[in-house]
Amino acid sequence: MSQQLILPINHAKLTASWKTQSYRTRFGFEHYGVDMVSSTGQSLVYASGNGTVLASGFDNVVGNYLVIRYDAARRPGYTGEVICRMFHFASLLVRGGQRVTKDTKLGYYGNTGLYSSGAHLHLEVDRDLAHPYYTPTLFGRSTRFLGKHYGATDSTMDNPLSWLHCKVSPPDSQRYTTAWNLLIRGEDRAITEIQ
Ligand SMILES: [Zn+2]
Repeated sequence: MSQQLILPINHAKLTASWKTQSYRTRFGFEHYGVDMVSSTGQSLVYASGNGTVLASGFDNVVGNYLVIRYDAARRPGYTGEVICRMFHFASLLVRGGQRVTKDTKLGYYGNTGLYSSGAHLHLEVDRDLAHPYYTPTLFGRSTRFLGKHYGATDSTMDNPLSWLHCKVSPPDSQRYTTAWNLLIRGEDRAITEIQ
């Protein structure tokens, strides 16, 4: 029995999409993830479903980070365990080895790390279970994460929005919106809702 992953912020506002040309132009690197904030100002981040925290800590480049391996989940065309990497937390509430559910509070998003401009959650989803600490987004000298020149490939990464659902029923009562700028893909302005 596989699960459907849900948004990690209950009133999420997407501020940057996966791999847009305008992101490359503005920041000088490919964006293998999404950025989101809370439209209510509540910066609490929850787990997206059932999974295990592989690691949590501080990295000089990505700031306070979490790596979670979710139990078998599904998106159109694929079912299996996936790795979720999240960067720039202000503070963390879980530790490596801990089991999580969608109701587990992971921490508060923030602006820690070198490449964070303003508080937000950066989130990546990767089907490569063998390289949880590899991220192709990265350049620079991270103490924890490995950049694209270390061997793993970017072909196992997905737009996180292909995995995430908006759970509109209580207690989550999620809502989803987006910023309106060139960093947002048109197809990301809506997300699949589930009860
Ligand atoms: Zn980002």
